[in-house]
Amino acid sequence: MFEKTGIASPEMVLEKFPPLSRINKGKVAVLECYRRIPCNPCETACPFGAIEIGEDINNMPILHADKCSGCGICLTRCPGLAIMIVDTSASEEYAELTLPYEFRPLPKKGDTVFALSRSGEFVCEALVLSALNPKSFDRTPAVRIRVPKKHLYDVRNIALIDKEG
Ligand code: SF4
Ligand code: SF4
Repeated sequence: MFEKTGIASPEMVLEKFPPLSRINKGKVAVLECYRRIPCNPCETACPFGAIEIGEDINNMPILHADKCSGCGICLTRCPGLAIMIVDTSASEEYAELTLPYEFRPLPKKGDTVFALSRSGEFVCEALVLSALNPKSFDRTPAVRIRVPKKHLYDVRNIALIDKEG
């Protein structure tokens, strides 16, 4: 399935998530890198040594969640848009997800957007908490959204709502 569609199965996604006990403590990265490719900017960008690829640059990155601060630097450096930041510590009801977002315009804080699955299907509506547009042209913007906790593992993209109808 993954080889044909490029869409990770729920089991593959779960394997990449840090344990819920860590996510409940605050922001932490999820490295959704599923293929052996020669790539390592996530490892070199992390100021805390939380990402390990090792000597073979084709290795898939391993996150040491205990070292990760959730700063999001790796997210802005990953050319594959493979990294997001998750956090369930802020509320009983909602999870916060910070997602790479390459389209324009960026949404604004306070906007409501569609939260989409890894296959692009509608999951729920989401509130935009912030949108970060790094000054450097080669850094990926990031949008932080709030979704019901039950969708923590489901949401991986957003789409703006066309208010013109
Ligand atoms: S979020 Fe920050 S601390 Fe965590 S892996 Fe990425 S760069 Fe490192
Ligand atoms: S930078 Fe992104 S695509 Fe490259 S190894 Fe790291 S997570 Fe994978």
